[in-house]
Amino acid sequence: MTDSTEQDESNGTSPEDAFALLGDETRIAIIRALGATPDESLSFSALRERTNVADSGQFNYHLGKLVGSFVRRTEEDGYELTYAGRRIIGAIFSGTFTQRGTPTSFELEATCPICGASLVAQYEQERVTITCPTCDDQISTFGFPPGAFENRTREELPQAFDGWIRTHLSAVRKCFCLNCTGRMHGSMTDESEHLLEDQTVGIEHVCERCDEGSISSIGVYLLSHPDVIAFHDDHGIDLDETPFWELPWLREENATVLSSDPWRVRLALELDGDRLELEIEEDLSASVI
Ligand SMILES: [Zn+2]
Ligand SMILES: [Zn+2]
Repeated sequence: MTDSTEQDESNGTSPEDAFALLGDETRIAIIRALGATPDESLSFSALRERTNVADSGQFNYHLGKLVGSFVRRTEEDGYELTYAGRRIIGAIFSGTFTQRGTPTSFELEATCPICGASLVAQYEQERVTITCPTCDDQISTFGFPPGAFENRTREELPQAFDGWIRTHLSAVRKCFCLNCTGRMHGSMTDESEHLLEDQTVGIEHVCERCDEGSISSIGVYLLSHPDVIAFHDDHGIDLDETPFWELPWLREENATVLSSDPWRVRLALELDGDRLELEIEEDLSASVI
C-alpha cells in the first residue's frame, strides 16, 4: 500500500514539539529501524517489516508524524533519517539521556609516573575520575557517557578515556562547544573552583551560550603544540599513543606564573634530562623560549 505522509517543508520545530514527537515506542522503533542502515533508504513496506508493527494504519500515522523532522522521504519514494534523526540514534547509543552509569572503580593498567602505583579510574554520576591512590592525587575528572562503556573491554577503556578528552580538547582549542555548538571563550585562571588540587593556574573555556565549562592544565592544553609533539618524538614517545596521565612531566607542578595581568605563564618539560620551555600568553598562544 502507499502511505499518506506529507513532507513538512517548514524550517524548524520548537524543542517542546520535537521532543514530544519522540514519546512513542513505534516512532522510536521507526528511527531505530532506519538507523540500522543509515545510508540506505527504505521503502514503506520494507520499513514497516523491519519495524515489526502489525497495524498498517498505526504505522502510517506514526511515520507521518516523523516525516519533516527526524525522517525524510526520498525521491525514490523511500524513507531515510534526517540529520536530526541521525543525532537521535547517536543520543540513544551514547546513553546520555537514557542510561545511568553504574558506579564502578578499577585499575587502569597504567602506572603513576611518580610512584609506580597502578592508577585507578572511578566512575560515578557519569563522571570518570582518575587518581593515584598512593600519591592521593586527582589526575583528571571528566563527564563520560554511559553508552561508551558498551562494547569496550576494561583494557580498551583507558584509550577511550584519553580519546574522549583529546576530542574535547581539540574542540575547546577551536572555541567550539561540543555540548551546544556555541562559541567558547578561553582564558587563564588561578581562581576557578574547577582547578585540581595542586594546580595554581589552568586554562578555562566557558561556552558563551550554554555556559558549559571545562578546565585543563597548561600542560594538557599544550599537548598538541607542534614543539611539544616534536620534543617527545625526539625522545621516542609518540604523544598520540600515550595517555597523558602516563607523562611524568605533566604530573608535576611545572607551570610558573610570570604575570597575571596580562597573563604570561611558563611551562617546563623534562625528558631524559633534556628541557623544553614554552611561554603561553594572555591570548593562549604559546611559543618556545
Ligand atoms: Zn603516584
Ligand atoms: Zn555550549
